[in-house]
Amino acid sequence: MSTKVCNSCKKIMRFQDTHCKTCGAEYKKVTPKWIVACAVLAALGFGVVVGMDKNRESDKKTVLQPVETNFSSSNVVIEFNECKGRVKAVQSAVVGTQYKSAVLVDTDIAYMARICTNDGSVLITCSASDRKMVTTKSNDCPL
Ligand SMILES: [Zn+2]
Repeated sequence: MSTKVCNSCKKIMRFQDTHCKTCGAEYKKVTPKWIVACAVLAALGFGVVVGMDKNRESDKKTVLQPVETNFSSSNVVIEFNECKGRVKAVQSAVVGTQYKSAVLVDTDIAYMARICTNDGSVLITCSASDRKMVTTKSNDCPL
C-alpha cells in the first residue's frame, strides 16, 4: 500500500487521493532533488573530459582553483540544435521545482540559459558559429 504526503499539512494521504483528506489541499507532485541533479549532471557530464583541456585564456580562473573543486567551466564541440535540445531538456526537468532557470539569449546564432542548482547555478551557452557548448558553474544563483 503506497502513500504520499500532503504538500500543505504533511499528513499521510492515500496514493489515489488527489486532494488531502485533512486540509483539502490539492496534491502536487514534487520532482525529487536527485532527478534534478541527474538531469543537470547528464547534460554537463559529457563536457567534463573535454573540459580538462585548460590551456585556453578563458580557463585561467579554473587553473587557479584548488584541485578538489569540481570543474567550473568546460566547452565541447556540438551541433547548435543538439546543444539547444540538451539545455531545453534540463530546463524542462526543473520546471515546477524549486530550481529556477531562465533563458538569457535565444537567437539563431546563440542560446544561453542559466539553471540554478543546490549549490549555485550553471550557465550554459550554445554557439552556432563555432558549434560549441560552454558550461560555466557559479556559486550563486542570480535569478
Ligand atoms: Zn493536507
